[in-house]
Amino acid sequence: MDGRWRIHKFGGSSLADAVCFRRVAALMLAEEGPRTGVVVSAMGGMTDALLEMVQLAEDDDAAFHERLEDVGVRYRTAAVDLLGEQGAVSLLEQWEDDADDIRDVLKAIALVRSAPQRSHDVVAGYGEIWSARLLAAVLANSSPERGGTWVDARKLVIVSQAELGPTVLWPQSSAHFDDVLGQSFTGIAVVTGFIASDEEGLQTTLGRNGSDFSAAILAALADADALTIWTDVDGVMSADPRRVPEARVIDRLTYNEAMELAYFGAKVIHPQTLGPVVDRGIPVRIRNSHNPDHPGSLISPESAREAGIKGITAIGGMALVNVEGSGMIGVPGTADRLFAALKREGVSVTLISQASSEHSICIAVPADVAERAREVIAEAFMAELQSGQLQSVDTTGAQSIVAVVGDGMEGTPGIAARFFGTLGRAGINVRAIAQGSSERNISAVVDSDEATRALRAAHSGFYLSSKTLSIGLIGPGVVGSTLLDQIERRAERLKVDFNLDIRVRAIARSRAMLLGDRRVDLDSWQTDWEQNAEPLDWERFEAHVNPDHLPHAVIIDCTASDEVAGRYGGWLRRGVHIITPNKKALSDSYAYYKQLMEDSRTGSAHYLYETTVGAALPVVSTLRDLVDTGDEVRSVEGIFSGTLAYLFNVFDGSVPFSEIVRTAKDSGYTEPDPRDDLSGMDVARKLTILARENNMPLEIAELPVENLVPEELLALDVDDFLERLHEIDAAMLARFEAAARDGKKLRYVARLTADGSASVGLEAVDESHPFNNINLTDNIVQFQTARYSANPLVIQGPGAGPEVTAGGVFSDLLRLAKYLSAGAWHD
Ligand code: ADP
Ligand code: ASP
Ligand code: MG
Repeated sequence: MDGRWRIHKFGGSSLADAVCFRRVAALMLAEEGPRTGVVVSAMGGMTDALLEMVQLAEDDDAAFHERLEDVGVRYRTAAVDLLGEQGAVSLLEQWEDDADDIRDVLKAIALVRSAPQRSHDVVAGYGEIWSARLLAAVLANSSPERGGTWVDARKLVIVSQAELGPTVLWPQSSAHFDDVLGQSFTGIAVVTGFIASDEEGLQTTLGRNGSDFSAAILAALADADALTIWTDVDGVMSADPRRVPEARVIDRLTYNEAMELAYFGAKVIHPQTLGPVVDRGIPVRIRNSHNPDHPGSLISPESAREAGIKGITAIGGMALVNVEGSGMIGVPGTADRLFAALKREGVSVTLISQASSEHSICIAVPADVAERAREVIAEAFMAELQSGQLQSVDTTGAQSIVAVVGDGMEGTPGIAARFFGTLGRAGINVRAIAQGSSERNISAVVDSDEATRALRAAHSGFYLSSKTLSIGLIGPGVVGSTLLDQIERRAERLKVDFNLDIRVRAIARSRAMLLGDRRVDLDSWQTDWEQNAEPLDWERFEAHVNPDHLPHAVIIDCTASDEVAGRYGGWLRRGVHIITPNKKALSDSYAYYKQLMEDSRTGSAHYLYETTVGAALPVVSTLRDLVDTGDEVRSVEGIFSGTLAYLFNVFDGSVPFSEIVRTAKDSGYTEPDPRDDLSGMDVARKLTILARENNMPLEIAELPVENLVPEELLALDVDDFLERLHEIDAAMLARFEAAARDGKKLRYVARLTADGSASVGLEAVDESHPFNNINLTDNIVQFQTARYSANPLVIQGPGAGPEVTAGGVFSDLLRLAKYLSAGAWHD
């Protein structure tokens, strides 16, 4: 092993308390190699606490005393836990001395009610000193030969504060490094992050989050092998994981990509971090101290070149300044004058966008300098504004810049289209756009209150399979729960074979709902339901099923509920796709049917309902195809009730009809109240749906429907009804015998013809007719069309039952996935 340094940096999130310190110490002691540099931040939140004290002192608020005590308690607790009462004594004495100094500074500030930058820096910097001392002591305790040295970076790192932030004075810093940590040093040196000295030898800081920069400077000074930045996430992620739940770790990225991400707000690395390591080609790893088994992200000069983007970021707190006027057209030097004016004022510009018409220039600047920027621009162009050559200089506050970043964007067509397409579909208004000529970044300026939504929409557009379906299932009854089982059994295969990511994320029934965090575990949803179901709240249900960060939302309605059907319009308009075997919505008034079709267009949402007629038999889609391809449908006839098919298949005159109904009910072939089948209304609804698919504005109320239940039995309760059902036996037998005399059989048939006539009722059908050759509960439908004229198109098979109905709904789901991924970019 050569004597090269390895540098590590632990952020505040890795140094929150004693447990964290122990973990960090263990990681560093496990490091191989003779020379290890560990740059530490303050304990998480400590810098904020110190800066708050300065603020309180500026307000002459004596509460800073208490805050300092709180900080002391936190430090003492950690130190005693790590080193024991005895072991912590000298460390805590040093802390008391520091606290005295801090108190003096704060009192002085309170006196004049103002804190110069230097006082801010001095107070803020103590957090790093305390961390470094404590970690060094913990390391010394565990390994006296390797640990124990802490280094005050003010004696090492010399910077000069310039307009664009601190710049390192390398010769001086290098000389100090040789003095403090020169050739003879071996072991682990714990170095304070964040703080440094300026040319005059006074304390300064490297800015918020500056410890990353400290670590990079140290890595450069030590000409280290590698720099590892330890934090609380598994690496640089495709977006800020706090804002985008689907963010994923980026395995490898180039220096440029990392810098671009950092500049545009990826807080995980400080924007200046990479400068010092880039020149020397030192690779940087970002890793998670809470999950050290994860390899993290590698940032190096080269990365595997991948088409597309690496990450998406957002920075808030921006404002747009817009300069507009025809006087700018073709006049050279306008932009020069504008930026010169801003430079004189020290306003740094984050994004520039100029229309090629030169009619307007739009810049994004930090919101707190926007007004100043506007004033200096107005001043610089006073003459033009007065003469009307420039119309206006305006500002718009509360803006954010959302940027997609990646070296692979160069030469990859379609990235901008995808970016702006996803923003557009999410209804996000883009106020300005910029693309660097490096093609490493495309930025969009959006209202800050839409920034998270924009991030999520763009992220899902680029990262998730376009076939990621977020599903809410309503009605986990017989069909619904069978569907959940079927999905559970197939989901993995569909993911592997088709990149289809089906996530059932919510389940609802009449009064309760279950919301799954990323998804509901279909293996154990019933137990989960018992423990975690909550009162049904439709708004929350919808919001959960249709969040910004997932590309597609689907509601599957497995109820027969009018109330649920009444909600379809709103869901469709808001872009939620609907799949259902529930006939209620489509067989309601024709106006409502039309409205739903319109809503589905408005929301670009699909509404799939193959299973409303004949369960999974391809009845609706066949009719739709005939109509759409210009065939002329002359008639549609069929048996659309499995129950009625069964009853009349079995009824041969030997057993009374009422007897057959009772047996069928006991075997579960009828609805709990058999009148729901015998009334013919279910069949009438199905025929209505088919009529409408055939562009006939049929109203169910106008449809002659033969109710097999006589008037006098309609109002009874179910038991009384069954008791008196034998009253229909004689009439039914008479009809059977009359038909038999003509060589016919009784069938409950629905019929529709092109002239607009339609009917639903019991008919005597020729022995040889296809309707007489069906299995027990089969459905059958026969289309007579211009193309199928001599010989009708017939579809026949089981048209009910949970397995086939659920299977049909599942097929609709797969059909939806196909529609949605048509023309997909990376699937
Ligand atoms: P540390 O205290 O270790 O310096 P920071 O809080 O400064 O940690 O930075 C880590 C945090 O940065 C993460 O917890 C994460 O929430 C946030 N972050 C923002 N953007 C990204 C990103 N693109 N990748 C990873 N983390 C990000
Ligand atoms: N402690 C400093 C901050 O909170 C520096 C850092 O953590 O990187 O900004
Ligand atoms: Mg940080």
